[in-house]
Amino acid sequence: MFFLGIAIQGLLLRRVAASVIPSDAQWAELNQTVGGRLYTSLPLAASCFSTVNGSPSTPNATECAMVQQGYTQPDFRSTHYSAHMLPQWETCQSTVQRCLLNSNDPSDPTAWEDNECWQGAIASRYIDVRSEDDVLAALSFVNETGIQFSIKASGHDYKGRSSFGSLSLWTRNLDSLNYSAVFLPEGGNETYPAITIGAGVPFEDVYAFAEENNITVVGGYHQTIAASGGWVQAGGHSILSPIYGLGVDRVLQYKIVTLDGVLRTVNKFQNSDLFWALRGGAGSTFGVVLESTMLVEPQMSLRVAAISFNQTADNARGFLELLVNNSYKWGQEGWGGHMGPASLINVNPLLTLEEAQASVQPIVDYALAQNGTAVVEDLASWQTFFAKYVESAEASVGVQTILGSRLIPTDPFFTDDDGKEALVDLMVKMVDTYAVNPYIIQGTPFLYNYTEGTTSVTPAWRNSLWQIGFHENMLYNATLETMYAQYEIVNNITSWMRELAPDSGAYFNEANPYEPDHEVTFWGDNYPALLELKNKYDPFKLLDCWMCVGWQGPADERYSCYLNISTDY
Ligand SMILES: Cc1cc2nc3c(=O)[nH]c(=O)nc-3n(C[C@H](O)[C@H](O)[C@H](O)COP(=O)(O)OP(=O)(O)OC[C@H]3O[C@@H](n4cnc5c(N)ncnc54)[C@H](O)[C@@H]3O)c2cc1C
Repeated sequence: MFFLGIAIQGLLLRRVAASVIPSDAQWAELNQTVGGRLYTSLPLAASCFSTVNGSPSTPNATECAMVQQGYTQPDFRSTHYSAHMLPQWETCQSTVQRCLLNSNDPSDPTAWEDNECWQGAIASRYIDVRSEDDVLAALSFVNETGIQFSIKASGHDYKGRSSFGSLSLWTRNLDSLNYSAVFLPEGGNETYPAITIGAGVPFEDVYAFAEENNITVVGGYHQTIAASGGWVQAGGHSILSPIYGLGVDRVLQYKIVTLDGVLRTVNKFQNSDLFWALRGGAGSTFGVVLESTMLVEPQMSLRVAAISFNQTADNARGFLELLVNNSYKWGQEGWGGHMGPASLINVNPLLTLEEAQASVQPIVDYALAQNGTAVVEDLASWQTFFAKYVESAEASVGVQTILGSRLIPTDPFFTDDDGKEALVDLMVKMVDTYAVNPYIIQGTPFLYNYTEGTTSVTPAWRNSLWQIGFHENMLYNATLETMYAQYEIVNNITSWMRELAPDSGAYFNEANPYEPDHEVTFWGDNYPALLELKNKYDPFKLLDCWMCVGWQGPADERYSCYLNISTDY
């Protein structure tokens, strides 16, 4: 029986149970309450294996073939509950229990012939959430049973925060999309052109919808990130952010069921403390967001520069120097983009085509001198640009990938000769020492007119010009020893970046899973107030996640699948 107080907007939870294992009858009752949409889960590739979770299993060749085909496709992954974009978060890394295919060749039978399939980090049960009632029922159940739960939208998380637990709330099918030219936040008196996006909608659908409505939505550089999921709760950079701000700058309202069991409309007029917290405090912390409403821009044409050449030991430094020397000017001109030692895809909505060509001429010349290619063109809309350039250039999925990153302050790294040289040296050292390329994102809100104190992301976003990230890929069958060695490389590079810019911070969504001093790195001075709000809206600590606000620390039993890697470096 549930002991619940009834609040005006929803179910007000009271702490009921210490952790117990729910009975079959309790699960059955939950299933009934959520309309039969409580499911048990198996790993994505389970149909390929003849031993699953320790028991004999009959492989299903048809299903296995489908999984092989979709293995590295974001659309396939995002529509399957058990799949995560970075498959290590489907696995138990510490025990090396997993159920993966070879991402370099998903049809390689060695993957399932030589291995058993294990559940790993995938929550054993999930609810296919379709409404706030499902969320309220789930929270009531969690409160009653004390079980650990998680929230998953697309599974893009780089740190496993949408994995684990006995129950997961899968929001992928909260798929509503609405545009209003006169959106009025509840309690407000001013209207805005805005789009309201259900918690599961991938950016590719948002962009197609925006195109139909002649508007531009400022969003991420990947098809399947959930626009109203982790992206808009922890920062949300776009290559249009230099002019139009981060996702958290543009959000006007959230609808959320907070972890005390209350459905709330959150904006600057009501629940304003929570509005601030959600604008940077990150996902899986304060509740289950049902939708967010974001400001939109009119449809805009874009000047696009797309440059690439074959990288060699001799030509990377020269290109990186050009990037560092030009980026401040490009920032002032409104460029944003993704760059590396031998490539660049940048966009600009402010310059004319002639101005854009002149602006990037030095790197065009450089690329052509390396027998590379360079295009500077005018495209009609964000959607046109996205389809032409991003879908083929976005970060790979289906591959075990560890990430690290740091926000790089404008001053001194783009304003001072010594600063510039130190930055180039760091990037060249990454390449020379570990053959790891810097992944440069000019996606900080460089020209955006920020109102101080309105968001809770690290203030480092506001005085940085770049985020430098990097990827380290692990083979599907990496041994424990190899995994530790690869995390060590990531930690080494992270420490170089921290030494270079010790007072800066990192983007919570795209940081090293073993980032030192995470409270300061991800939130700076905002952390104490965020912690207070975590305690207010999650009084019974129903939700905890790795390095999130209020994190209970790595020793908690739910983190037993993470590797035992020190963050003291
Ligand atoms: C290939 C790739 C490309 C990326 N590109 C960009 C980019 O261009 N710009 C950028 O800013 N970031 C980018 N990211 C990072 C991305 O924004 C984050 O991983 C983000 O958290 C993904 O959110 P999600 O909800 O889609 O993913 P999920 O893994 O489903 O969720 C991420 C986190 O948010 C929580 N969460 C999800 N939905 C909800 C909800 N409804 N309520 C409460 N909590 C929720 C989850 O529990 C988890 O903690 C990229 C990541 C990948 C893997």
